[in-house]
Amino acid sequence: MTRALIIGGGLAGGAAAARLAALGQAPLLLEREAAPHDKVCGEFVSVEAVAHLERLGLDVAGLGGVPIASVTLHAGRRSATARLPFVATSVTRRRLDAALLDHAARLGTEVRRGVAVRHLAGGRAATAVGEVDAGAVLLATGKHELRGEGRDPRGTIAGLIGFKMFFRDWRLAARLAGRVEVTGFAGGYAGLQAVEGDRLNLCLVVDRERYRQLGGSWPALFAALLAEPGLAALGDAEALLARPLAIGAIPYGYLAAPGDAIWRLGDQAAVIPSFCGDGMAMAVHGGRLAADMLAAGADAASFQAQLRRDVARPVRLATALQRLAGTALGRFALVAGLGALPAALTTLARWTRVEPKALARIGV
Ligand SMILES: Cc1cc2nc3c(=O)[nH]c(=O)nc-3n(C[C@H](O)[C@H](O)[C@H](O)COP(=O)(O)OP(=O)(O)OC[C@H]3O[C@@H](n4cnc5c(N)ncnc54)[C@H](O)[C@@H]3O)c2cc1C
Repeated sequence: MTRALIIGGGLAGGAAAARLAALGQAPLLLEREAAPHDKVCGEFVSVEAVAHLERLGLDVAGLGGVPIASVTLHAGRRSATARLPFVATSVTRRRLDAALLDHAARLGTEVRRGVAVRHLAGGRAATAVGEVDAGAVLLATGKHELRGEGRDPRGTIAGLIGFKMFFRDWRLAARLAGRVEVTGFAGGYAGLQAVEGDRLNLCLVVDRERYRQLGGSWPALFAALLAEPGLAALGDAEALLARPLAIGAIPYGYLAAPGDAIWRLGDQAAVIPSFCGDGMAMAVHGGRLAADMLAAGADAASFQAQLRRDVARPVRLATALQRLAGTALGRFALVAGLGALPAALTTLARWTRVEPKALARIGV
């Protein structure tokens, strides 16, 4: 039997690879980047993501991340802080994704880096270095569409673009110890938290039209962000990248069709709004579920239907909340409501995560 082919070595692809290899069906994984790299991501690794990764045998604690136990929301001059119902970890994707791929390779996966798949045809993957035979194909290219296999963006929140920048500032780092801060602003929101190596991660999404109105450049957008009380302290911080990482057209709320005949994983299967900090958990969950179902002889359509049952509710709720936060009144209501009733945040945080019974079903 031809071994499975995994396209994309992010968390979804890495999780599927590690699990398939552990089940004795070591796959081939193709990752287009030649080396570990940064990604547009808030790097808030939820407790579900950590549990999943540790069940796959990855030593997440050994990666040197920092703990996050509370969240502060800012909207204009209003702020509300609440404890999270769990302790999350903050670790860079550069370090986390590379560690998972190395782990999958140690378990027996053949990992080929620097190989981009161009398209699929007749059970073969066309790459820049020739064609590759494939048994089952697991599509884990994240935000990037494979030619001919694009996601259907209908019904998603359209027009959002993402940016990420690392900073260093000891005073701001002290303020952020143990917490993530989320600032809502006209046209978007930004998350700010510490990561390993005494750095701070600013990751944000902004409406493309708002970005254009602000001048359509990072310096102009950053200047507007500094006018927000929750982000003003970044004005004194040292930027650690020459320019931010950026990503266009994030389809928040996307869910793959239940009858999809491709094994779509991670962001190719579901895109939950970033403020929930659960996209990585969903990616790892889908990767592991796909490996288990593939090894058990299931077909892609059954897998896609099961994954949708596991993640549709949190994706839909989070998308509704993001639409609400898109208006000034909605932002005010959210921050005022959470300030008056911090326990509501705990409930929302629970409801916007992979279903606990779905995790329990696959032994996490
Ligand atoms: C602004 C923003 C902030 C976020 N913050 C958080 C957060 O704090 N916490 C959280 O849990 N989630 C967060 N997320 C979501 C999270 O980043 C994604 O859900 C997660 O990365 C999905 O993992 P993945 O493996 O599907 O995709 P990716 O991590 O994008 O990995 C896909 C991989 O495929 C490779 N690839 C692409 N095309 C090809 C090809 N043709 N051939 C070979 N390889 C290819 C890429 O190089 C990449 O390594 C955020 C998302 C955004 C946009």
